[in-house]
Amino acid sequence: MAIVKAGMHKWQLSLIALLLVFFLTGCSILQGGKDVEKSGPAVTAEEGAGGEVYAGEKSKAVSFVYTAQKVLTLTFNGMGDDKTMNELLDELDKYHIKATFFLPGNRVAEEPEIAREIVARGHDVENNTLNRADLTQVSYQEAHKKIQRTSQIIEKETGVKPRYVRTRSGAFNDDIRLAAAQCGLEAVISYSLNLQDWHKDSSQVVSGFVRKHVTRGGIIALNTEDNPQVVADIAIIAKAVSEVGYKLIPLSKLVAIGSERKPLETIPGYDAAQINPDFKKAEYDLVYKGNGDKKEISLTFDDWGTDYTVTKILDILEQYSIKSSFFLRANGPEKNPNLARAILEAGHEVANHTYSHPVITTLTPEQLQDEVVKAHQIITEAIQQKPAMLFRPPTGAFDEASAQAVAATGYRTIAMYDVTTYDWDTSKKAEDIVREIIENTENGSVILLHMLDDIHTIEALPAAIEGLKSKGYTFVTMSKLLGMEP
Ligand SMILES: [Zn+2]
Repeated sequence: MAIVKAGMHKWQLSLIALLLVFFLTGCSILQGGKDVEKSGPAVTAEEGAGGEVYAGEKSKAVSFVYTAQKVLTLTFNGMGDDKTMNELLDELDKYHIKATFFLPGNRVAEEPEIAREIVARGHDVENNTLNRADLTQVSYQEAHKKIQRTSQIIEKETGVKPRYVRTRSGAFNDDIRLAAAQCGLEAVISYSLNLQDWHKDSSQVVSGFVRKHVTRGGIIALNTEDNPQVVADIAIIAKAVSEVGYKLIPLSKLVAIGSERKPLETIPGYDAAQINPDFKKAEYDLVYKGNGDKKEISLTFDDWGTDYTVTKILDILEQYSIKSSFFLRANGPEKNPNLARAILEAGHEVANHTYSHPVITTLTPEQLQDEVVKAHQIITEAIQQKPAMLFRPPTGAFDEASAQAVAATGYRTIAMYDVTTYDWDTSKKAEDIVREIIENTENGSVILLHMLDDIHTIEALPAAIEGLKSKGYTFVTMSKLLGMEP
């Protein structure tokens, strides 16, 4: 059985044994005559009209919250023993973290004082269903009953009415969303980062992993049962989140600052790029730099990176009040749209660098147009508006046929650069990057940099900017440098 692990304590094994009995018989295991789960198929009137599937709207399904703010949430599944839970609460206090605890109904009924302590320390408590059962495998009525019972128990024991539900694994289906809605719950929550089994690795590895996966609006999930590491994990998470410059807030607060995402087809300009087989005579504008009549230049950043790297770049640009152009490899924002939105909200322009970063001269025109249009749609949906209509080919490689295929989709401008420093190479030192930028920049220059992780661009950026400013250059987006409409 998968959940029995080496090193488990005797009480954990006996709890599992009890739960197994519970599954087999369907009777309550709870002491004190608390009748949490009635046996048999009977459904009382308060539990729905004869157990029929709810006819109203489904609860929302949430795995992250759409926001560009520097916040995310830490959530816990299950309810460990008294000692673990108290140590965990002390550790959260130590790092001033307010978290969200998804509590199983049967554990709250067993040890309500733990649940009350969680509430007293200022954390959110939510519905983790009744027990370990996989609700995707039970009938609608059974799922509804387990969710409703749990909300009733949590409200009775803590005075707090849950607003969200999460199943043990995070898995859910439409029945669970309907049952949650019938129970008055606003959303079925899963997660953006699941750290259930991470403690196999060293704390340094874990720390690096978390830092790379911390996202704005993210929902981190940790397990408090059968996980003796959970207390030690808090320091690692707190450090990783603070290194990125973000803050952990309770789920309800995160949901409150989130906004609805408009569907792609309702966003003006979503169709500004389209597959167009008539590309043989398409005209394109190939641009390496501005006309140079002013001391204006553009910093441009290609590809994609983690929140850590991209946020550091945004912070530096903000510090110097600089607006830049970001050419996104769209399979990045496909998974993390909040970061793309953060770039836009910081006042920069966002443009197209294909979906999967192929060398475009190796593609058929059809494949290439597919890359460009797909990227356009993903970026449009992520930032909720039309991006700047600039296309930059990955590695800078293009030819007549590929430039025409791109232009025919609607991206007429092939946006190249005249200053490149090979900063994508990890062996390039910051001082080399700075020197090459300063030596090669002139009026109208477009400087190519990258937002990749583990390269030295972040280190080089402040010195490069100061050097350029001292030579009298001002910084504008590439659209502005080229005199285009943004
Ligand atoms: Zn690239």
